[in-house]
Amino acid sequence: MRQPGNIAGVMRNSYPARIEADYRQELVARPSAAGALVMARVMRAIEQAQREYAEKVERERELGLRDDAEAPYDPARALVLVQRALAGAQIGYTEQYGKVETDALIQRARAVDALATRIQVEIAKSVPGIRTLGDPSSSFILQQAWARENAARIKTIDSDFFEQVAAEVIDAVRAGRSTTALAKTISERTGVAESRAAFLARDQISKLNGKVVQARQQGIGVKRYRWRTVGDERVRDTHRANDGKIFPWSDPPPLTGHPGHDFNCRCFAEPIFDDEFLDDSPDDSPELRAAQQEAERRVNERIAARAQRAAEKAAAEARLTQAAAERRVAFLRELEQQVRREQAAAAARAEEQRQALVERIQREAREQLVAKPGELRVPGGGLVRLSDDGQSMTLTLPNGRQRVVSFSDA
Ligand SMILES: [Zn+2]
Repeated sequence: MRQPGNIAGVMRNSYPARIEADYRQELVARPSAAGALVMARVMRAIEQAQREYAEKVERERELGLRDDAEAPYDPARALVLVQRALAGAQIGYTEQYGKVETDALIQRARAVDALATRIQVEIAKSVPGIRTLGDPSSSFILQQAWARENAARIKTIDSDFFEQVAAEVIDAVRAGRSTTALAKTISERTGVAESRAAFLARDQISKLNGKVVQARQQGIGVKRYRWRTVGDERVRDTHRANDGKIFPWSDPPPLTGHPGHDFNCRCFAEPIFDDEFLDDSPDDSPELRAAQQEAERRVNERIAARAQRAAEKAAAEARLTQAAAERRVAFLRELEQQVRREQAAAAARAEEQRQALVERIQREAREQLVAKPGELRVPGGGLVRLSDDGQSMTLTLPNGRQRVVSFSDA
């Protein structure tokens, strides 16, 4: 079963209420007009009967034949006048309203059909894989049958009204009733006919809508429906009992018929989209199924490839991060070694300097120890010695060569 969104909600709001209201107004206007014609003609006839009777009474009184005048009119004479009035009213009405336009009725049926078709197609389109073709010729047959039936029923309301209003008016005139009583009789009878017309309009639009919905649903392959009531307190018990249950279009529930078939029924049929009726629809062919599987496979492949690319990228990033970390560690290690080398070199230099200093001090101390009076060491390693007599001075160079400097002139 494939059910799209809120079908019940869509259908509840798709009843042809506007078309029904227009049709009701049109049908009620007919008995209203008939009643007004009867009222006018009969009142005129009664007024004439009263006038004639009053004149007759006046004449007879003048002649001394009578002096009573209780009756408002002569019933026998009034009957003739009123029957003529009733016939005239019916002829006048028939001239103006007698021909029921079947074409106009077909137009109205077509409007109901168009609305129901649009709604059912919209609903069906929201279900994947449903063909939305109907059979237009069946609609036309339905529309014509509906128009014929309505024309006949309208004419029956007309003829029933004239028949019944005539019977009651004639009874009232025979009984010598007042004009007020007569007017009341005609008003009541008109009201009854107006109610019948209003009921006819409601009932016929509802039935037509039910039939069109059935035709459209069956046209798109729907075999079953779920019964839905409008859910208020006016719903009949037998219809409430059907609420939510599934019925086949081929076999209406015996107590109620399909939704809309009972008089004034506002229930509706929510289509059930069974899988089996989709089996022969084009989107379920082996080729399309294979194509769909292929498409699904490609989508899955793309998803898998995308996931793999993402994993590879993450791994590459991790590798780069690892390499960078390793490089940083290696660099730090090298730096540490370099620092250690430099520290060692500096320590070695410091040791050499210390050694050199120690050696120099030792050497100088030794030299001081070996130095004699009258000897002077000069820079460059030379030695100047004063002679014992103090008359000369000998300079001994580090290579052993000597120079003697005499203080005397000789
Ligand atoms: Zn109902």
